[in-house]
Amino acid sequence: MRKFRGLLFLALLVKLMAQEVAAQEPSHAAAQPIVIRAGTLIDGKSDQSRRDQVIVIRGNRIESVSDGASAKIPSGATVIDLSNATVLPGLIDSHTHIFLQGEDPAKGGYDANILMQPLALRAARATVSARRALEQGFTTLRDLETEGAGYGDVGIKEAVEAGYIPGPRLLVSTRAISTTGGYPLEGYAPELDMPKGAQIVDGPVEARKAAREQLDHGADWIKVYMTHRSWVGKNGELASQPTLTVEELRAIVDETHGWGKKVACHAYSGTGLHRALDGGCDSIEHGLDLDDAAVAQMLKQGTWYVPTISVYYTDWAPADTPNGQRDRLRASAHEISFKKALKAKMKIVFGTDMGGIPWTEPIAQEFSHMVDFGMSPMDAIQSATSRAAVMLDMEGKIGVVVPGALADIIAVDGDPLRDIKVLEKVDFVMKDGSVFRSK
Ligand SMILES: [Zn+2]
Repeated sequence: MRKFRGLLFLALLVKLMAQEVAAQEPSHAAAQPIVIRAGTLIDGKSDQSRRDQVIVIRGNRIESVSDGASAKIPSGATVIDLSNATVLPGLIDSHTHIFLQGEDPAKGGYDANILMQPLALRAARATVSARRALEQGFTTLRDLETEGAGYGDVGIKEAVEAGYIPGPRLLVSTRAISTTGGYPLEGYAPELDMPKGAQIVDGPVEARKAAREQLDHGADWIKVYMTHRSWVGKNGELASQPTLTVEELRAIVDETHGWGKKVACHAYSGTGLHRALDGGCDSIEHGLDLDDAAVAQMLKQGTWYVPTISVYYTDWAPADTPNGQRDRLRASAHEISFKKALKAKMKIVFGTDMGGIPWTEPIAQEFSHMVDFGMSPMDAIQSATSRAAVMLDMEGKIGVVVPGALADIIAVDGDPLRDIKVLEKVDFVMKDGSVFRSK
């Protein structure tokens, strides 16, 4: 008990010190305003870009945005000249895994990550993932589970917020939830009690308890796996195994909504996808095969769609194998689903599944897939800015360059409305009023 009290005291001390660091930041920054001269501004919300804008930042907030000709520059302001660049809000990736590293199957893949790597090593690598995201202009991530690293994401989030490590603003979902037979590690001798990449529940009581535990330990979102695996079905369809029942999911959704939070559901197709919608999921992740009934229900319920296209174009197995055929079907079904969702004006939000993709690759590659499938570049940008902010209940705070918003601002060379690929080369990153990167 005494030892426990000592630990508690230590934890409290760390927390107080962290708060002190955090408290010092804005007041120091507030003393000196920063002015950004933007050659072109895409503010995240308007459908048109604007030329020659002046953005005044005080502390961690945007104070004003005005036309260059009429703008008043506050005295003593530090001026950042981005008059040859396109300025945008900090980007938001709403589906990442900072605790995954695109595990190479040849090196033991997903299983080795859980079985061989000490948690401290995984946490250290997660800090690198977080920094990589910030370097690329992603100032907010919704990180959708730690894949066996427990509540590690809560710790990384605290470290970023306290200023110990650089990283995006993190909304975390901790352990995620699936059912018996619904998540790896799998395929080991039944006598072995193997660790799982998600919290396993069976029955509404266990489901609700898992949600309570995760929310209690700091989850901002609850992540649920509503389907598991996928293969080419008897009739050539994309088949997947349903996991939670509607009753189990409803218990989780009811509990999570009671805490004022939302539920993100991994769902590919068929029964599992329909249970996800019947159970009241707030966002459908992947949604590889959205049939017409699913599209109609998502529109009716206002469900968010986070397609994560890029990850289904990596690591295809050879075409003449069952897995290779499945990989190709996943991509082709997904393209059809995305186009249906676009046509139906569904609320599509940018997400990549980074971590499933190595963090060394450009996060912004997802934009190219969206635009290739018919989304306008401005719509794609809004899916990673203002629209994502609404899903994350941070409307007006992030994803926009407007007065009162947090000062998360990036800049690129060139015009992303003409060539979306320029978003893969971000030259300037400001998060919370502090410049993290400047060419
Ligand atoms: Zn994922």
